[in-house]
Amino acid sequence: MARPELAQEIGFFGHVEVVNVDGKDVRKWVPGMTVKAMPWDLPIVGYESDTVYPLRLWECQAIAPFSLESFNNGDYFEAQHALIDAGNITKVLYPNDNHEKGKTLRLMQQYFHSAASVRDILRRHEAAGYTLADLPKQETIQLNDTHPTIAIPELMRILLDEKGLSWDEAWAISSKTFAYTNHTLLPEALETWSESLIQRLLPRHMEIIFEINHRFLQEVRAMWPGDGEKQAKLSIIQEGFHRMVRMANLCVIGSYAVNGVAALHSELVKSDLFPEFHEMYPTRLHNVTNGVTPRRWLKFCNPGLSALVTDKIGSEWPAKLEQLEGIAKFADDAKFQKDYMAVKKQNKQRLADWVKENMGIELDTNAIFDVMIKRLHEYKRQQLDLLHVLSLYHRLLNDPTFDMTPRVVFFGSKAAPGYHLAKEIIFAINKVAEKVNNDPRLGGKLKVVFIPDYRVSMAEMLIPAADVSQQISMAGKEASGTGNMKMALNGALTIGTMDGANVEIREEVGDENIYIFGLDVDGVKRTKAAGYNPYDFYNADPLLKASLDLLLGEEFTPGQPGLLRATYDSLLDGGDPYLCLADFASYVKAHEDMDAQYRDQAGWAKKAILNTALVGKFSSDRSIRDYVNNIWKLEAVSR
Ligand SMILES: *Cc1c(COP(=O)(O)O)cnc(C)c1O
Repeated sequence: MARPELAQEIGFFGHVEVVNVDGKDVRKWVPGMTVKAMPWDLPIVGYESDTVYPLRLWECQAIAPFSLESFNNGDYFEAQHALIDAGNITKVLYPNDNHEKGKTLRLMQQYFHSAASVRDILRRHEAAGYTLADLPKQETIQLNDTHPTIAIPELMRILLDEKGLSWDEAWAISSKTFAYTNHTLLPEALETWSESLIQRLLPRHMEIIFEINHRFLQEVRAMWPGDGEKQAKLSIIQEGFHRMVRMANLCVIGSYAVNGVAALHSELVKSDLFPEFHEMYPTRLHNVTNGVTPRRWLKFCNPGLSALVTDKIGSEWPAKLEQLEGIAKFADDAKFQKDYMAVKKQNKQRLADWVKENMGIELDTNAIFDVMIKRLHEYKRQQLDLLHVLSLYHRLLNDPTFDMTPRVVFFGSKAAPGYHLAKEIIFAINKVAEKVNNDPRLGGKLKVVFIPDYRVSMAEMLIPAADVSQQISMAGKEASGTGNMKMALNGALTIGTMDGANVEIREEVGDENIYIFGLDVDGVKRTKAAGYNPYDFYNADPLLKASLDLLLGEEFTPGQPGLLRATYDSLLDGGDPYLCLADFASYVKAHEDMDAQYRDQAGWAKKAILNTALVGKFSSDRSIRDYVNNIWKLEAVSR
């Protein structure tokens, strides 16, 4: 429901004035344009509780009547922003994944949502009769990645310029109110904004960022006297022809707690991403391993398995997922194994029917359903999965001694619109699928399905039907992953690297119930340090060479040789930055082990049941509880 009585006004552009208030010079931002933030409350209903909480979302509206004159006079026009319609500010979601793009409209969105929320929080806090000094006691603002970082200088601006607090008073409040969750180590995903853009769009905020940095660099100099390199590395401002503001640095400096999203990731945040910050603030960095909601990702999406579980352990598990462990004792029970695999078969049939109906591809539900569903990114290595498909195709056609369990390889993925190679990889997968699915020589043993328009509603159908869950990112690159948790919960066996939460899934389910392959973080570092050359692997491994070379000719693009070259080139002359070729042999071996295991259906069923039973840790309830206990340090209220 709309809440017009709680609307806020949000400014952009303009300049900073010095005004005298009670004999004191106070800085005052005079925005060049102002828009309205309209709150819409979406009720979030607690699972089997009487708690309903509003999720407050903001819509940008023009303030009527819109004055073209003031618009023409303002910096807004001068700054050549063609997005005249204020509604545009909240109309589009930027579709990039793990890649930062410094677009003006994006920064306007970030400020719009941050400023509206900060003001709303302060309004409620003051209306409840609390003092500003009490803000950290009553509120915490958890920054979900660096996207709302601008909320830090916004809160400082309000405390300094509107509430008349001193810098030290304002910083004491602000730096105990914000906490920051880091979601990636990928350098290209760490947000930086050009100083000149922030200066133009939010001139007072830029002054405050400079002051935060000035005071912070004094701390750095005290810690590492005379070390200019440390100052340059840690500074919020990245020097250069175009000076840039490093949002992650501002977050770490301006927050009372910082966390990664899986144990391995949080260790890498300490050791590789922010080692100096960890030295300066040794108690600031934490871990909160991600989780998924068992309501959506088991109870709702897999009613067959849910009924089976409830039959054995009762109906409390959706809110107490650790109780799933109670089905472990049935892992060897032949009747339970049969029922469990029958549910899996039904889920595979539901997916096969959808594929037949929507894509015209006929699938055999006795085949292994091998599933890789996630955003398309080189670090996630869909191209490695494709190489495995090509190796199966090659062996089926050229090795008369080769046998395999029939297999359907599913991909579901969207690429960011500007990510050219990602689109090339999607194209290659689709071309290979076209050929493989219509090649009678394969005897129906191999099918490839690229699910169009992959999204949550498709995930809800794919995940309960998965036998094999592909979690094959280059070690050190996937912060956590959550698809890995959803599929393990639904009884898929993981083939994965020692990356993100895969490490903790292995800890929970046991080494014999997961298929780990490839280089670990240390192996990746050593391989890169030694001067990795993908041709060494290409020339030494005939299966790898044959598989890759299939992309070069016209095998999958009749009459158009070389159409799939982009993927091929990225793995050879492109240097294979994510070490697909280095991990190929071990990946193929892990697949062979899984294939052999699948022929023993009872043994497979036992492993699948143990996956469902032993991943209770990955409930989002446990994640939230970790935030409550270790970051926010909240006490329960009696009710
Ligand atoms: C869970 C989920 C993701 C995240 O998948 P990862 O394998 O962790 O990258 C992406 N897209 C959809 C639709 C999801 O449901």
